Amino acid sequence: MKFADIAGHQATVTSLRSIADSGKIPHAILLSGISGIGKMRLARAFAQYVHCSSRHGGDSCGVCPSCVQHQRLNNPDLHFVYPVIKRDGAVVSNDYIDQWREMMADWSYMPPQKWNDLLNAGNSQPAIYVNESEEVIAKASLSAFQENYKIFLIWLPEKMRPETANKLLKIIEEPFDDTVFILVSNDDSKLLPTIFSRTQRFNMRPLSEMEITTHLMRNHGVSPEMAAAAARIAEGSMGKAEELACHPEEILEFSSLFKEMMRMAYALKAPSLKTISEQCAAMGREKLLRFLNYSSRMVRENFIYNLRMPFISLLTPEEEEFSRRFAPFIHEGNVEALSDEISRAATDVERNGNAKIVMFDLMLLLSQWVRSPKPVPLPLQ
Ligand SMILES: [Zn+2]
Repeated sequence: MKFADIAGHQATVTSLRSIADSGKIPHAILLSGISGIGKMRLARAFAQYVHCSSRHGGDSCGVCPSCVQHQRLNNPDLHFVYPVIKRDGAVVSNDYIDQWREMMADWSYMPPQKWNDLLNAGNSQPAIYVNESEEVIAKASLSAFQENYKIFLIWLPEKMRPETANKLLKIIEEPFDDTVFILVSNDDSKLLPTIFSRTQRFNMRPLSEMEITTHLMRNHGVSPEMAAAAARIAEGSMGKAEELACHPEEILEFSSLFKEMMRMAYALKAPSLKTISEQCAAMGREKLLRFLNYSSRMVRENFIYNLRMPFISLLTPEEEEFSRRFAPFIHEGNVEALSDEISRAATDVERNGNAKIVMFDLMLLLSQWVRSPKPVPLPLQ
């Protein structure tokens, strides 16, 4: 991974490049921000740059032996640490190296759900166990094999068990001269404050819709309409956008289900609403949450459509046609209530509420709000 492969984050790239150029690399660097914005990609590009033997043009060369090893994920001075499942004697990152390589190759924006799938985690939560810190300490105490620095890339340090974090803290507090820890966190509020305060922190922002659209079109050959649609739903996360753009059938499914749900809610057809709630429940929790997120965006965007504010073109002409007829029913008297009800339903689904009941209740509430008349403006005094 080179800096040139990083979408967005130019300020962070510039800072990391000059840190490496200065030769004074801090012992612990924290890259934080929401999931799917490319923090791990940037951490990898930085590590490759630090180790590259013939940097030029502000980037790693991509062809020296060290760069080649980085690209193959087998540089002996680059160590990855990530949450795993304790199973059949497997408990540390290295036990899952094959799955990790697959993740890096296919999902470099690191959607945590994909990692759970690769681990066959089911309902268990992957964690970084205390055995891992022992491995890290053992590796850190050896001198670097071929490079100037040993680099430890820790993905999701917030998943460290407290005993793991406490052990690692010692080595982060008093590190060996040639050791660098890069922590890549989706939620740094969950880090041990003593670790947090030892790091040089880079807060990375969500990507813009333009950055996402451009990346999807250039790197995945996605059509401009699909790229724009995925960027709109992904809320700044390239990881989410790639998943959506590579599985367009889900967007199409959501869009037709949303239309059906709103039509039936307006018509207050209880049997149809019951069928739709069953269909939603059959999606499973994660997908249903994505559908609710999509629905909430659609409500907001249709409200904006009404205001004739700049509006990114919808997926298809049929979508546009639907919005032309549907948008007038979303107004200042119900837009907040509709969004709130959808968010509340998402929270209930997240907390393992019965999806069929949650969705049926939601649709009755949507029905009530979507049928509420648009408030008449008060005459000026
Ligand atoms: Zn190189």
